[in-house]
Amino acid sequence: MSLRFEHETLPQRVRFGAGEAAAALAEEVERLGGGRVMVLAGRPEAEVAARVTAELPVVHHHDEVVMHVPVPVAERARAAAAEHDADVLVSVGGGSTTGLAKAVALTTGLPVVAVPTTYAGSEATNVWGRTDDGAKTTGVDPRVLPRAVVYDASLLVSLPVDLAVASGLNAMAHCVDSMWAPRTDPIDAALATEGIRALAAGLPRIVEDPTGVAGHEQALYGAYLAAVAFSSAGSGLHHKICHVLGGRYDLPHAPTHAVVLPHVLALNGPAAPEAERRIAEAFGSDTALDGLQALRARLDAPRALRDHGLAEDVLDDAAAAVLPAVPPSNPAPVTIDTLRHLLRQAWEGADPR
Ligand code: NAD
Repeated sequence: MSLRFEHETLPQRVRFGAGEAAAALAEEVERLGGGRVMVLAGRPEAEVAARVTAELPVVHHHDEVVMHVPVPVAERARAAAAEHDADVLVSVGGGSTTGLAKAVALTTGLPVVAVPTTYAGSEATNVWGRTDDGAKTTGVDPRVLPRAVVYDASLLVSLPVDLAVASGLNAMAHCVDSMWAPRTDPIDAALATEGIRALAAGLPRIVEDPTGVAGHEQALYGAYLAAVAFSSAGSGLHHKICHVLGGRYDLPHAPTHAVVLPHVLALNGPAAPEAERRIAEAFGSDTALDGLQALRARLDAPRALRDHGLAEDVLDDAAAAVLPAVPPSNPAPVTIDTLRHLLRQAWEGADPR
């Protein structure tokens, strides 16, 4: 069979090195000609942000960060950037903080340098998101892609283990869903396969030794690959489901991904033999689902949506909301009954096998 595909590689510099954030950040800001830096970091990350930006020409520290970027929060950050005449944005934090910097970049065109402190992966995508009175909107724009990313695994050792696990499984979901997402191609599949391998190696080490850098380093590398694959491949069934759950019922982002993933893999794996083979190989297991479930057991991963705030009586509403968003390219056929069953299983925390 001939190989034919189109793949777009996004233009971005990546620096990777534990303990090197401050030095790498200074070089990246200088490379952009930054003389007036606005630092975005939530209050919990203020100390680490102050440390890694100490050498920069900072004109403003902005600490109002809210998950899913509510419009008024984005407006205030944009106003602050204008008021302080910032020429470079530096974000230090998880997906919520990166998302805020992207919101400012979207309307101002200011370049972003991202210093991620979770495995969310937003830093490697050109996707922005915002919420307006609870309704979540996303879009794609080249202006929001950070010009450079500074990965420093030593900044992630402060993550509580449950947060690291959920966030790492969010990255795992980027890899797995990339295998059958609408624009997937062989490059995405290769990146996602290596991402799964690295995450499966790193996450158990984090659980065994949460403050050791080694596990975080592997997981962070995997999370970057995951995000690059996801950015190119687009949202598959898994992300469509989680988008509805997060936006409509305000569920926490990373744990929702962690719970839903095995149920989508159980549905799609048997209908996507090439993806199934690749995922199983990356886990070093007999089947893809066995590999994922063995990892989840080692990590004591989030198991049931009911534990994360989803009410039982919205399951039918959720299934109906997901149905129109199901990608036509999904390998397994999906009906309203498929979704009702999947969501109930995920809500209960049932074994998907
Ligand atoms: P988050 O950024 O909200 O962070 C979760 C919590 O972790 C926060 O309380 C934060 O203070 C804390 N935290 C972050 N880093 C820490 C560290 N090193 N040590 C201790 N605590 C730390 O959550 P997230 O899961 O990183 O990001 C979720 C958001 O990102 C969602 O809004 C999601 O939609 C978005 N996202 C967007 C994209 C994209 O491509 N646009 C991709 C992935 C995620």
